[in-house]
Amino acid sequence: MQVPFNKPYMTGKELWYISQAHASGHLAGDGQFTQKCSTWLEHRIGCKRALLTHSCTAALEIAAMLTDLQPGDEVIMPSYTFVSTANAFVLRGARPVFVDIRPDTLNIDESKIEDAITPRTKVIIPVHYAGVSCEMDTIMDIARRHNLMVVEDAAQGIMSTYKGRPLGSMGHMAALSFHETKNIISGEGGALLINDPRLVERAEMIREKGTNRSQFFRGQVDKYTWVDIGSSYLPGEIVAAFLWAQMEEAEAITKRRLDIWSNYHQWYASLERSEKLRRPTMPRECVHNAHMYYLLLPSLAHRTAFIDRLKTKGVNTVFHYIPLHSSPLGHTTGRSVGDMANTNNVGERLVRLPLWLGLEEQLADVIGEVVSAAQ
Ligand SMILES: *Cc1c(COP(=O)(O)O)cnc(C)c1O
Repeated sequence: MQVPFNKPYMTGKELWYISQAHASGHLAGDGQFTQKCSTWLEHRIGCKRALLTHSCTAALEIAAMLTDLQPGDEVIMPSYTFVSTANAFVLRGARPVFVDIRPDTLNIDESKIEDAITPRTKVIIPVHYAGVSCEMDTIMDIARRHNLMVVEDAAQGIMSTYKGRPLGSMGHMAALSFHETKNIISGEGGALLINDPRLVERAEMIREKGTNRSQFFRGQVDKYTWVDIGSSYLPGEIVAAFLWAQMEEAEAITKRRLDIWSNYHQWYASLERSEKLRRPTMPRECVHNAHMYYLLLPSLAHRTAFIDRLKTKGVNTVFHYIPLHSSPLGHTTGRSVGDMANTNNVGERLVRLPLWLGLEEQLADVIGEVVSAAQ
């Protein structure tokens, strides 16, 4: 048996839509497929505007520009996240301020956010780990009381909800990823979702090299020119065409992922009862998208042995983030608030299992191997 950790799923329509983009002769960004994808996101998520980008990292960079950070301003985020959450803001001269995560969802611990706020704090970035929502009502309330902006890192969160609201619809802005390791993919890809209507116009300009090109195409100005800072953040139409094939199947993809997830979850229940491991915990108000199935093993040594043993059986599992506060750049650019005990602990104990469409055929064997490796 050889089971890769990830295998990008194709719906079968990708090449057909790419051939349509090719035939149309419009290959740059913002053609018909980009339009379809952004309209789909706007309806699905209920955001004011969805702008496709070439990655979630790019969407976070635009978001960072839109927050008008000054060098030395502070941005509160978990340390247990991907580097781009921090990097996008560090590029603007901001200082990441790391807060510990909750032991249940592994999301930022909302009860520790206020301790991290200083007069220089400008932004909070909740990262919805594994597509499970952060405690958004509390976070939005803190932000309102302290006059802070909220940028949701919803890279893993498409099709998930919190109290019935889609992830990405609650902060001032949010970023999605369509990287091939995510649920809905285009190889590399992402989107910036804007909920605060005051930010829409400027977001369009930053994404279009700092020009008012979008206004020009809508006939709002009679020539387009350089009006702001910015860069080129658009995906071309070939990528958008691929993405459209995936969006059309988003419900079916999510359902199939959830089936695999639930299977894993049921089969590991008795291992949790005998304290061999801990399974993911889902707050009642969160509906998730089965982005990830992870296990928390008793220690780093257990995890290393578990990954090695499964590897010899042909099952590829991986650990996740090295906490940013203990990384070289996290040290020099950021600071942590509190002891980061949960972050350090999870950084050593978490292991991710394969979860991709097509795994169904080998699932029983994979589960069997996981169960014996966890004994
Ligand atoms: C995947 C991911 C990103 C980066 O996404 P890209 O599209 O690869 O730039 C950012 N944040 C989190 C939490 C992610 O999981």
